[in-house]
Amino acid sequence: MKNFEPEQFRQHFPLIYKNRYINSGDESLLSIIYFDNGATTQKPNAVIECLPAFYQNINANVHRASHNLSAKATKAFEQARETVKTFIHAKSNKEIIWTKGTTESINLLASSLGKKVLSSGDEIILAVSEHHANIVPWQIIAEQIGASIKVLSLDAAGRVDLNEFDTLLTKQTKIVCCAHVSNVLGKINPIVDIIKKAKAAGAVTVIDGAQAIAHFPVDVQKLDCDFYVFSAHKMYGPTGVGVLYGKEALLDAMPPYQSGGEMIKNVSLNKPTTFNSLPFKFEAGTPNIAGVVAYAEAVHFINQFDHDELTKYEQQLAQYCFQALSRVPTVKFIVEGAPDIPVIAFTIEGHHNHDIATSLDSYGIAIRSGHHCAMPLMEYLNISGCLRVSMAAYNSFDEIDYFINTLIKVIQQEKENSLGEVTHKTIHNKDTESNEIINKFSKIKSWDSRHREIMLLGKTLQRMDKGLRNEDSLISGCESLAWVVVNKSPQGTFSFQADSDAKIIRGLLVIVLSAFNGKSALEINAFDIDSFFEHLGLIQHLSPSRGNGVLAIVDKIKILTQ
Ligand code: PMP
Repeated sequence: MKNFEPEQFRQHFPLIYKNRYINSGDESLLSIIYFDNGATTQKPNAVIECLPAFYQNINANVHRASHNLSAKATKAFEQARETVKTFIHAKSNKEIIWTKGTTESINLLASSLGKKVLSSGDEIILAVSEHHANIVPWQIIAEQIGASIKVLSLDAAGRVDLNEFDTLLTKQTKIVCCAHVSNVLGKINPIVDIIKKAKAAGAVTVIDGAQAIAHFPVDVQKLDCDFYVFSAHKMYGPTGVGVLYGKEALLDAMPPYQSGGEMIKNVSLNKPTTFNSLPFKFEAGTPNIAGVVAYAEAVHFINQFDHDELTKYEQQLAQYCFQALSRVPTVKFIVEGAPDIPVIAFTIEGHHNHDIATSLDSYGIAIRSGHHCAMPLMEYLNISGCLRVSMAAYNSFDEIDYFINTLIKVIQQEKENSLGEVTHKTIHNKDTESNEIINKFSKIKSWDSRHREIMLLGKTLQRMDKGLRNEDSLISGCESLAWVVVNKSPQGTFSFQADSDAKIIRGLLVIVLSAFNGKSALEINAFDIDSFFEHLGLIQHLSPSRGNGVLAIVDKIKILTQ
């Protein structure tokens, strides 16, 4: 095992390492400061290279054929299971089920375990800070069975409240679901106590380890949880691979989830089909073989380093970033105290999260804004969303310095922009306005200048009367609040009024509306927003999607005008 050396560790990640220009002094070089590791991590060379090597050398289906290639593929696939079993200290390979991610692992449990242990009137306890993946599958099965969900709240620091847990836990509680670490709050939940108490009450425990697994060693036998789920892609592995760990006796007693090939022992059209033994009973169909094999490389990669040192380094990053953010006067943390893993959530007073995140992106800094798939948590904290910085062991103190300095600059720029002169434009001539915008953008080359231009355009958008901002005009699917109303002329062409609480969305509204103003329903329906954004040179950074609001705006306009 090697000592953990941050700079040496970083060199394994080509996407991170080749974009390390922040200290080169060359402003023309784009740096990527990747602080969105909670969403997915970057991949080390060992994982990247494993995928083509698998397809070039040993690709075949697993467990099926009696030829050498299939035997090689099966061996690699099953060795990967052994690697993961050892990594989380499970008792047996039978307890490691391959899925396509945390979400699928929980869906499997809700469906199969839910059917096994829940009856009408039973209760499931889950924390208010759970990711949607650990809420919605339980809501669906609870509704089907007539069970109910009890919600566990948090203490001021953002960890689940153990006192409240004592009062929620009853004879009716059959399943307790809790994230080891919330993907927004970065605090380690007291799951050892939760598991002990749940066990004493006869309830089964499901721990969502999607965030924890990347940051510190996990021992499922020591935790004594019944189930532990996580995704490969959040711990330097490929996307499309996940793990469901479960105690063998429980898995054995559960009915199959999906059915088809591989999960059967015997199929007959004349007598009942019998099912394969663990773990195959839960692995219907051809799995992501190359992904599983590459995932084992990710685990071997982590295992090369002293895991405790890696965790300690990440905690130092978390502390450093938390302290630096505390010194920025307008930063408000959404819960009290420093995080346990390098995941920090905050808002900036007086500024929309989306505006701050897109401005940072124009300086090459990738952080996340929005509800982070934790809408109930946002509601509980009475916020519409927040910013999240989530770091990994390849991030550095230099990057944090660059991020903090840029954040301060961006907040200042945002303030100055709000004070600037505003000229409202009302152009309803077909094509004039969009051509003007295309011309303007064609002269600007860099993303940060284009971003500045979008923000300037946003200032030209006439604010909409508050009375017009209602359910009917709301653009749903956009992560910020945005509204649009349509006016139809006697000639059958349309003009629009629109607004948003985020400046970047106001800018995007000016751009999108310029394309639609003065057009007929037919022309609007036929309009190709992708090629318009291509023309504007925005496609690489703002490729129309629901996430950034562009598609949601376009869909709403198309619906309103048809
Ligand atoms: N739970 C938590 C705590 C997560 O952070 C995530 C991913 N953001 C998920 C579940 C879902 O993981 P996946 O999308 O890989 O299925």
